[in-house]
Amino acid sequence: MARSYDVIVVGTGTMGMSACWQLGRRGQRVLGLDRFAVPHSMGSHHGHSRMIRLSYFEHPDYVPLLRRTYQLWHELERGSEWSILQATGGLYLSPADGVIVPGCLRASMEHGLDHELLDQAAVGERYPQFRLPEGYHGFYERAAGVLLVEPALHALHRLATNLGGDLRGNEPVRAWKADGQSVTVTTEKGVYEAERLIIAGGAWSHELLGQLGVPLSVTRQTMFWLPMLDQEGVRSHPLPAWFVEYQRGHGIYGFPELPGQPGFKVAEHVNGEAVTPEGVNRECSDADWHQVQGKVNRFLPALAGQPLSNSVCLYTNSPDGNFVIDQHPHWKNVTLGTGFSGHGFKFAPVIGEALAQLALDGHTPLPIDFLSLSRFSMHPEN
Ligand SMILES: Cc1cc2nc3c(=O)[nH]c(=O)nc-3n(C[C@H](O)[C@H](O)[C@H](O)COP(=O)(O)OP(=O)(O)OC[C@H]3O[C@@H](n4cnc5c(N)ncnc54)[C@H](O)[C@@H]3O)c2cc1C
Repeated sequence: MARSYDVIVVGTGTMGMSACWQLGRRGQRVLGLDRFAVPHSMGSHHGHSRMIRLSYFEHPDYVPLLRRTYQLWHELERGSEWSILQATGGLYLSPADGVIVPGCLRASMEHGLDHELLDQAAVGERYPQFRLPEGYHGFYERAAGVLLVEPALHALHRLATNLGGDLRGNEPVRAWKADGQSVTVTTEKGVYEAERLIIAGGAWSHELLGQLGVPLSVTRQTMFWLPMLDQEGVRSHPLPAWFVEYQRGHGIYGFPELPGQPGFKVAEHVNGEAVTPEGVNRECSDADWHQVQGKVNRFLPALAGQPLSNSVCLYTNSPDGNFVIDQHPHWKNVTLGTGFSGHGFKFAPVIGEALAQLALDGHTPLPIDFLSLSRFSMHPEN
C-alpha cells in the first residue's frame, strides 16, 4: 500500500530542502526525495560557498525577497547553532556605464540600502590588490557576505528532520501524477501519496516537468580555488566578496579564504557550455582554467597562481535569467521552483517559504509575481 503524507517534495537540494524545513514549521507531514544523498556534488549546490548580497543589480524587485532571506538565514543559524553566513562585505566593480555598479545603485536607491560609492583612487587605497582599468569605479555594501553551502544544507536537513520530515536520499523519482486532489509519486523503491507536491529538481527540471512552455538551459560552470600570492597584502587589507564586470554584463567574482575552503575562490558568472546533467564533463581542464585565468590576472594579479582545487557545477537558466516559481499550470496542488539561473542559493530560505505557502495556501504574501510562469507564453506538454 502507498504511504501517505501531506506534501511530497521532489528534489531536496537547495530549494527543496528549504521547502521541507518551511513545511515542517507549518506542521505538515513531509516526504522529501532526492536522487542522490544530500548534499551532493552532481547538481548546483556544491563548491563550499555562495555569495549573498542585497543591492541586487539583476533587478530591484529581488530586494524585498533578499531582506526576508537574510532574516531566515539568521533564524536557521540560531536554530542549528551553526555559522552559515560569513559577513565579509561586498565590493562590485564596473565601468560607469556598465551593468553592475549602475544596477546596484538603482536597487539601492529604490530600496534605501546602505552603500558606499568608491572612485578608482578609493578602491586602490582600500583594496590595493585590485588593478582597475581607466573608467572603473566601485560600489561597496557591508550587508554582503558568503554563505557556507554544506553547513547550510546540513542545518536545513537537521531542522526539517527534527520537525518530523521524512527525507530520503538515493531514491530517484521515476514518475508522478496528480488529479488536483492528490498526488502519487513513484520511485525505484516505492509508491507514495500526498495531497500536494512540490517539484524542485534543479538541472533535472525538464525531466520532471516537461517543457512547461519555458525553455530551460543547463550549463556547465567551473570554479577554482587559488593561493593568494601576496599574503602580507591580504593581512593588511582583507578582501571582501567581490564581483568585477570584465565585459558588459559578464563578470568574474571571488571570495576571501574562509574556514574549510581550499583557497581563494574565483569563478566566472557567465553561462557556460550547454550540457545535460548526464552528459556533462565533470572534470576541469587546463583550458577551463585558462578561460578564467586571464580575467583574474587582469584585475587581481595577487591571485594569479595555479589552482589548488577546482570543481564543475550546473546552472539551470530561464530565458530571462529570473527564477520560475509558481503553481503547475494544470494542477493547483503541484508547485514548482526552477530556473534559478546561477544566482538562487542566497534566496533558498525565502524560496522555501514561498514554495510552502504556494503549496499550502495557493498564494504567498511574498512579492514573487515577477517570477511567475505567466511571463512566458505557455504551451505546457506535461
Ligand atoms: C558554480 C556556481 C556558483 C554559484 N554561485 C552562486 C552564488 O554565489 N550565489 C547564489 O545565490 N547562487 C549561486 N549559484 C546558484 C545556486 O547554487 C543555485 O541557483 C541553486 O543551488 C539551485 O538550487 P536548486 O534547488 O534548483 O538545485 P539543486 O540544489 O541542484 O537541487 C535540485 C535537486 O533535485 C534533485 N533531483 C533532480 N531530479 C530528481 C528526481 N527525479 N528524483 C529525486 N530528486 C531529483 C537533485 O538530485 C538535486 O539534489 C551558483 C551555482 C553554481 C553552479
